[in-house]
Amino acid sequence: MRSYTLTAPAKINLYLEIIGDRPDGYHELAMIMQSIGLADQIEIEANDVQLIRFRCDSKEVPVDRSNLVYRAADLMVQEFPDSFATYGGVDITLHKHIPVAAGLAGGSTDAAAVLVGIDLLWKLGLTKLELEELAAKIGSDIPFCIGGGTAIATGRGEILSPLLGLHNTYIVLAKYRSLEVSTPWAYKTYRSLYSDSYVTDKESLSARANAVHSGEIVKAISHQNASEVAQKMHNDLEKVVLPEYPQVLQLKESFAKYDILGTMMSGSGPSVFALCDSKDKAEEVKLHMRNEIPSDDLELFVTQLINYGIQVR
Ligand code: ATP
Repeated sequence: MRSYTLTAPAKINLYLEIIGDRPDGYHELAMIMQSIGLADQIEIEANDVQLIRFRCDSKEVPVDRSNLVYRAADLMVQEFPDSFATYGGVDITLHKHIPVAAGLAGGSTDAAAVLVGIDLLWKLGLTKLELEELAAKIGSDIPFCIGGGTAIATGRGEILSPLLGLHNTYIVLAKYRSLEVSTPWAYKTYRSLYSDSYVTDKESLSARANAVHSGEIVKAISHQNASEVAQKMHNDLEKVVLPEYPQVLQLKESFAKYDILGTMMSGSGPSVFALCDSKDKAEEVKLHMRNEIPSDDLELFVTQLINYGIQVR
């Protein structure tokens, strides 16, 4: 049976601004998404039983139809019934390395890998744009995860403008294993506290999105100035997550004591990252953090900013 193994990288947000509400219930966002080396592995193999079968080596993710892996495979079956009939079902195995519910788009990148894998398995020859359009049907972060790298993401996150990302930049990523933050809770709470700052008319919405395109952090990225990028990082969701989750604030405060370029919560948290200008520096900061917070519950990773998304191995 034909099979593919895919690498599905996580992302962090270098920038996340909430601009307004959308009629579909989502938020209008302006973000800078950044792929990182921390990744899940997905094996996809054709089977001859006309079924999607899914297993995962982590107990933290559901293996039923709610899993984004399953939803991505199901979408391909709905969209390409003839190919499903010709090539049969798929067995999907997920090796989970990205922390779950961490603001790192773990489920989204797994779903992106499934779309890419089934495209190959069924010889569909879809373009990147076609894959991104399919991806947008199941989740806002999934289109970015297909091509990855560095990109401005507007709309609900699905309108992408790729950027040439920072070279040789590393992060230390910190997350308490037992701490999860619900993304819907974070956005709902933000709306209840800050919706008076939302813009509603079309002109103001596109002016705010355009301001990010010509903003200082994008300039700093294009100038390869990692320390300037670190100064300009921003995440609106910190305003609701940090007061509610003191452990997240504590991670930021701990990182800030060391020789890093800057620190920020990723997405809706609770992951916090510190930007560093070398791998050695990142390893040093990781060691300091481990000594300062010896808790077994704290996961720490050193990884690099990368310029790609889903890879076939
Ligand atoms: P985002 O940054 O896109 O908001 P996240 O990194 O915060 O996502 P995920 O790791 O994708 O969060 O998990 C969010 C929820 O999705 C979890 O509670 C989990 O039960 C569910 N989920 C569904 N499919 C997956 C998957 N393949 N991997 C991880 N979680 C999944």
